Amino acid sequence: MGKKLVVANWKMHGNMAENKRLLQAYINQLSSLKNTDVVVCVPYPYLAQAQSMLQNTNIAWGAQNLSKDAVGAHTGEVSAAMIKDFGASYVIIGHSERATAYCESDENIATKFVQAQAHGLTPILCVGETLIEREAGVMQMVVGKQLDTIISTYGAAVFAKSVVSYEPIWAIGTGLAASSDQAQSMHEFIRGKVAMLDKEAAASMKILYGGSVNPQNAVQLFVMQDIDGGLVGKCSLNAQEFEQICRVAA
Ligand code: PEP
Repeated sequence: MGKKLVVANWKMHGNMAENKRLLQAYINQLSSLKNTDVVVCVPYPYLAQAQSMLQNTNIAWGAQNLSKDAVGAHTGEVSAAMIKDFGASYVIIGHSERATAYCESDENIATKFVQAQAHGLTPILCVGETLIEREAGVMQMVVGKQLDTIISTYGAAVFAKSVVSYEPIWAIGTGLAASSDQAQSMHEFIRGKVAMLDKEAAASMKILYGGSVNPQNAVQLFVMQDIDGGLVGKCSLNAQEFEQICRVAA
């Protein structure tokens, strides 16, 4: 097992003053952290602030979405190159809050995945099923299909050194995290699916768990064989809780 990775997803929270306090708390509390990579994904307008505060620290930064197009007449969109311009190294792709509210197709998500990589950004691809799909027992089929759109167009090798985050939709922001067994079983499925086509890619990709991660459930989740860390929403807005989650990972 390699280094764990913990990613903060601030969603649409923050302002210059609050971010300054939160980032400074991250810096102070996490500077001694070893064996764990930490990333904070901020809203676009704060990429410059993240860059100026986090450069030369052990915390990387990223965005929460990107355009599937490289450049052109796409009003309101933000390209991979623009994100990279602010020193970012990661970008979240296909978060269910976007996929549902902004009708993002699996095809668009696949294009964004390779667009990110083409510009030196590590994609954090979110996959996951709804509660109805889990109750119907079709969760692996659903997640498998989300991965297949990328695999069938670009091959399994694109998963090398990428990040996939298993985020059951019923667990996001609900306080109801998946159990460590539920998460491990899906993570094993995801890694196995990629490994069938490309063993090296499967071994080098990180598979995070996201969905109501907190300092308590992180203890059970992060010891599982195929759980390489977490994508953290709500608890990342609290520096103490986020630090505790990072320390569990470490
Ligand atoms: C998320 O935003 O990806 C997430 C998992 O949120 P939360 O931790 O609040 O459930």
